Amino acid sequence: MVISDFGGVLTTPLVEAFASVQDRVGIPPKTFGEAMRSVAESGGKNPLFELECGRITEAEFQVELADALEPLLGHRPVIEEFGHLLFEALDPNVGMLDLIREVRRDGIRAALLTNNVKEWEPKWRSMLPVDELFETVIDSAFVGCRKPDPRIYQLTLERVGLEPDQCIFIDDMQINIDAANELGLHGVHFRETAQARAEVHALLA
Ligand SMILES: [Mg+2]
Repeated sequence: MVISDFGGVLTTPLVEAFASVQDRVGIPPKTFGEAMRSVAESGGKNPLFELECGRITEAEFQVELADALEPLLGHRPVIEEFGHLLFEALDPNVGMLDLIREVRRDGIRAALLTNNVKEWEPKWRSMLPVDELFETVIDSAFVGCRKPDPRIYQLTLERVGLEPDQCIFIDDMQINIDAANELGLHGVHFRETAQARAEVHALLA
């Protein structure tokens, strides 16, 4: 089976998309990072991780982030449009969607394992034919834990009823690949489409 990440694998690279959003809202990436760190330090929890585990809502996340950005920027930023702008900056990665179609045609099963945001579900689902490509979706925000927590990989394996070494896992973050390899899945670190496609085909050959 092929288990794929969503953001940065089946889409435009996330770094590019974030950069475009930060340009449009006029917040330098450094300030953004600083704000995230200050929220994490004050509450002891990374607000993005809390959001991705579905423990806080997008609205709560936005308030925390705006509170942290305000002293750094000298004004209160309007960040309600962040999610919207991010998805405007994201396009489907056709080469990787084709890869999923190719493996499916060869009788290989496919699943989606994503760190995501509950409120964004309609947005990301509208970018690709999810139900045609994947037999199941494991979304961090709905299962309450996120990659690289081993529990989310174990949950995925239970859902599909397979052993780790029967699964290829594709992700653009090395930390998520390391966790998957640790459990015995065959990790493919996505760096670019041609490389990831070739590695997956080689593993299946
Ligand atoms: Mg990703």
